Amino acid sequence: MKKRVLVVGGVAGGMTTAARVRRLDEDAEVIVFERGEHISFSNCCLPYHLSDDIPSSDMLVLMTPEIMRKRHNIDARVHHEVVRINREEKTIDVNNLLDDTTYTECYDKLVLSPGARARMLPIEGIDSVPVFALRNVADAKGIHDTVVDNDLKDIVVIGGGFIGLEAAENLKLRGCNVALCELLDQVLLTLDNDMVQTLHREIYDKGIDLHVGTYLAKVEDNKAFLSNGKVVPCELVVMAAGTLPESQLAEDAGLELTERKYIKVDQNYKTSDPDIYAIGDAIAVFHRLSGQFAPLQLAGPALKQARAVADHIYGIPTMNTGYIGSSAIRVFDLNAAATGLTCRALDQLGKTNYDYVYVIPKDSVGIMPSSENQFLKVIYEIPTGRILGAQAIGKGDVVKRVDVIAAMLKFSPTLEHLKDLELCYAPPFNTARDSVNFAGYVGLNLLHGVYRHVHVSDVRGLVESGAYIVDVREPAEYEKGHIITAVNVPLSQLRDRMDEIPKDRPVYLHCRSAQRSYNALLALQHKGWTNLYNIAGSFLGVSNYEYFLDQVTDREPIVTDYNFV
Ligand SMILES: Cc1cc2nc3c(=O)[nH]c(=O)nc-3n(C[C@H](O)[C@H](O)[C@H](O)COP(=O)(O)OP(=O)(O)OC[C@H]3O[C@@H](n4cnc5c(N)ncnc54)[C@H](O)[C@@H]3O)c2cc1C
Repeated sequence: MKKRVLVVGGVAGGMTTAARVRRLDEDAEVIVFERGEHISFSNCCLPYHLSDDIPSSDMLVLMTPEIMRKRHNIDARVHHEVVRINREEKTIDVNNLLDDTTYTECYDKLVLSPGARARMLPIEGIDSVPVFALRNVADAKGIHDTVVDNDLKDIVVIGGGFIGLEAAENLKLRGCNVALCELLDQVLLTLDNDMVQTLHREIYDKGIDLHVGTYLAKVEDNKAFLSNGKVVPCELVVMAAGTLPESQLAEDAGLELTERKYIKVDQNYKTSDPDIYAIGDAIAVFHRLSGQFAPLQLAGPALKQARAVADHIYGIPTMNTGYIGSSAIRVFDLNAAATGLTCRALDQLGKTNYDYVYVIPKDSVGIMPSSENQFLKVIYEIPTGRILGAQAIGKGDVVKRVDVIAAMLKFSPTLEHLKDLELCYAPPFNTARDSVNFAGYVGLNLLHGVYRHVHVSDVRGLVESGAYIVDVREPAEYEKGHIITAVNVPLSQLRDRMDEIPKDRPVYLHCRSAQRSYNALLALQHKGWTNLYNIAGSFLGVSNYEYFLDQVTDREPIVTDYNFV
């Protein structure tokens, strides 16, 4: 008998499910219901229309109902909202939004891929300016056309997650003045606070008025009043303050939800009703590293879940290996990527048995013209050395490094595996020992107690408490900029000046990127010093970590000048 598969939501997860069902069954009746105007648009490319990187909003639409009908015999109905699931009868009620009529369709299997909607914050006076979320083509076109048609210049973006950042970047690139308000003390929670300071620097230096730890209190007379007391001009607001799952339909149907109203699914993405599946932004997935169920609002997982669901409907098993969460973003000239758990997430899980490597190697051979610094953090478990997560930022191909670690993360890798990785090498691409190998060496040294380190986030405290800090760079480097309390004993002179280094108190060594200070530390250790710590990330790391807050607060810098090269 012909199967009848109905799908709610016609974008990432929904259309992928429909297409896979068609590939598996030429006879199935497949109907997709999409509330909006379009199916199969590229959510991820929406922000790039704001800068005209993608010049026409039509280009965002990848597939039309007509093509789906002709090529795949899939009935995709736009402007059709599913308003009720009648589980007993195995039917759904659909509202045709064009003529406001309601009709009923029956199903053998129902797949929910309704996504998430923007959290629209109620802010005093906000309706006095145009306010947009950025979730679909209409939103992208709405922001773009409103800005262009009215020659608007002053935009306030609320929220420093992926969507807020990408919106801010693209509006800035088109010449707008952009203020970005983020309630937390940092943008982008996929990166830890120490790593993200490098992105804060880029955002700030590229002219975005970035306010962290701040909310938009009210809008009046084209001015935005921020909770930090600042007032910025405001002609349009982009609301990117997080999302809420589109799970009302599921809730009304009595399907099980999590506390935060995400749809609960089993290992095959079946809801608490065996004939209803759910995928994408609306569900909670199993995170294999935290062992918890939580949302993961990314395109790749939605598409994989779509395939798994279609396969399950047709009896093809899929191993659900859980999720690690891998993501990337470009922010002006910097790329950033992350996979697995952050330190912040580990702290929230109550884990304390971890540490992390923070290295800043070159991303290709240093004398190559394309060579750039690469900020790489790898988090590992103590005592096993099991890798828990990684984050990287740089101008070059940092995504590749995080992807390598992401690929391993599904197989419970350790630092030893990282050290052993045999990766492609030629000078334009990387160094003979890739930065991920390098992170493995450093991590193993730390794990095996070869030396101890402190993090860039510790350095301000060290300076303020009068700790003994030794800068082992050459005098010319020191003169250009140094930690205000650091003593300069260059590595090249160290063996003649060892007696200047105290033995009776902790000594913190650094250089530019922690390589020379590691050598200095070992030389001293071999000669009997037992009180030494390397400053991971060294002066480059400290400069990047300190810069943004030095610019936007009235605190005293702990460096005489910064070094970013
Ligand atoms: C601006 C933006 C940028 C992004 N960038 C990235 C990125 O770079 N990388 C990445 O991995 N992910 C990115 N994402 C996230 C990614 O797009 C989502 O994770 C993915 O689209 C989720 O798929 P989904 O099918 O669950 O939801 P969606 O693709 O959002 O589709 C859900 C659809 O269901 C429809 N719908 C809801 N309820 C009903 C109903 N009752 N009846 C009919 N239709 C209904 C909605 O109108 C919506 O069109 C981005 C998202 C946005 C918005």
